[in-house]
Amino acid sequence: MSRRSGTRIHRAAWLAAAVWLAFAPPAGAEAPAAPKTLSPELSSLWAQHRESFRAPNPSQTAAEIVRAMRESQLDRGIQSLPAFAAALVEEARRAVRIHEYELAVDLLRGAKDLAPDYPPVYFQLARVYWLQNKLNALKVLDELASGVGAMSQNFWWSFYKTGNFVLLAITALFVSFFLGALILLVRTTPLIRHALSEAVGGRVPVLALAAVPWVTVLLPVLLGFGIAWAVILAALWMWIFLSRKEQVVVGLFVLFLAVMPLALDALAGFVLGGSSPAVRVLSEVRDGTVSAESAAYLARADGVRANPTILLARGLVAKREGRLADAVRDYEAYAAAGGSRPAAARNNMGNVYYTAGDLDRAAAEYREAIRIDPKLVTAHYNLSQVTREQFRFDEGDQLYIQARELDAEAVSSYRRIAGPHPNRVVVDENLTLADLWKGVEASGARRVEVSEALWSRFMRGISLQVLPIFTGGLIVLVPLLGYALGRRLSIPYSCRKCGQVICDECQVATKERMCSACHQTLITMVGIDVKDRVRKILEIQKHRERESFVTRLLSFLLPGGGHILMGRTAVGILALFVVVLWVLTWLLSGSFLVVPGEVYRETTAAGYTVFLLVLGLFDLFIVRHAYRIHQM
Ligand SMILES: [Zn+2]
Ligand SMILES: [Zn+2]
Repeated sequence: MSRRSGTRIHRAAWLAAAVWLAFAPPAGAEAPAAPKTLSPELSSLWAQHRESFRAPNPSQTAAEIVRAMRESQLDRGIQSLPAFAAALVEEARRAVRIHEYELAVDLLRGAKDLAPDYPPVYFQLARVYWLQNKLNALKVLDELASGVGAMSQNFWWSFYKTGNFVLLAITALFVSFFLGALILLVRTTPLIRHALSEAVGGRVPVLALAAVPWVTVLLPVLLGFGIAWAVILAALWMWIFLSRKEQVVVGLFVLFLAVMPLALDALAGFVLGGSSPAVRVLSEVRDGTVSAESAAYLARADGVRANPTILLARGLVAKREGRLADAVRDYEAYAAAGGSRPAAARNNMGNVYYTAGDLDRAAAEYREAIRIDPKLVTAHYNLSQVTREQFRFDEGDQLYIQARELDAEAVSSYRRIAGPHPNRVVVDENLTLADLWKGVEASGARRVEVSEALWSRFMRGISLQVLPIFTGGLIVLVPLLGYALGRRLSIPYSCRKCGQVICDECQVATKERMCSACHQTLITMVGIDVKDRVRKILEIQKHRERESFVTRLLSFLLPGGGHILMGRTAVGILALFVVVLWVLTWLLSGSFLVVPGEVYRETTAAGYTVFLLVLGLFDLFIVRHAYRIHQM
């Protein structure tokens, strides 16, 4: 627990710093502390960057300093500095507030150079382009697309966005099944009431009989036992009145419950991942900023036993700090501990030897890396650089071509950062997203506790451990019970034409499933007065019109509801799910897992317009669809 709150304090401190940065006046203020980095001169560059806002041409000065910072980080072998990019994004936000759009664009371009995989840069840039000129729409779309691409490349963003999506999707499924169950209960209440009144023999008022199922379904929800209970209890009441198709959909809900232990375990991974020290350390090393806390963690031995990737991270840090012997030792240990990327360790070890000036040993390590993983583009590229330095140009060119064939884009990015510094001649294998995800998997100690806590939001009283037995029992017992009841009782149904509730006890069954009045009016046409017949036909027409109106109204208020009312349960639940997910995403995405650095969730008028427009269009589509189905 203390470790968890420690991380929270750490994060809160960083957020507070970011907020403060955003509100600090540009000139005359004390320069805020730079984010902690491996590189000592970056702090002074940061201070200069702050100073640049007093300069006569802040844009140009800022651009120069950002370039200097970028050069300095590349010399240390760091490709991306999201912490600095975040600070620049905050400065850009402030520039936007005072309508300095040009300056904001310059700052954001600088941020993009510092951290190409930091998503807020692209989103903010899209916003500034849009504010600048509405004709920039294409540029805006381009930046938004890049932002989404960056999200998939950035660990914390992909991590939290995926976690949020999993939670919202599970919640939306529960809510749509809950709403769907209530709509079905509305439809089946007259049938349940009829069956109950046949059973008690008319001694209890009709209204009280109709209220019985509703009280039993809604009471557990009101008492805080969760909406899953409501769905199960409603399904128990309705089961014998449902069509085969509807019973299948209810069965799907029970299967959905059955996979909850797995789904919530995954979700617990997302909740706990943010506080897992291994993940935090690995992500910091990947992003080139290592806090004192993380440095201490790297120095300890216990983390390595749980996750050998820590050794790979430690090697990277040692090399960035110039401790070459330490780096070699860590990479060797990583390979010996059975780390999942031995070729990466060999490649990075080659880079250490290259930095130390031992080209022959470097080349040997690259060759070993290629032998282990023939597709490792960095090793091909690095070996091409070394062989060229050894004046074996033909071989070097050959390897360079091979590297380009493996991944032309990666090789172009290596060429862009190329420079005289050893860290820019040969390229390290950084930690990958997969390395970080594995760190999450390793942190499984409190997963059960967290997944049970999450589960209690949906269903209290049945723990996740008992849930498989519970759902298995439902799947076997409910159809059996329904079958037994169906054989003993005459199950009430609605007349196909006028909607009147009947059962075989009160009327003679017809194979068209109509009430006797409708049967006389429409099929036999004997023993019925013309006047009565016309009245009945008008009544049937009116019933149909009312049904059509109710279907459309319900579809409008609750897209998918009309479909469920008409027996199109699967389509109805799907439509409900889409709408509920859309609304929940809008309302809750920031309140569960917040990406560090995503301080402001500005909901603009344009955002609301898009939200309502999408909702409205979907609503219209569903209402139209429901109407057409009803006309069939
Ligand atoms: Zn009828
Ligand atoms: Zn009856």
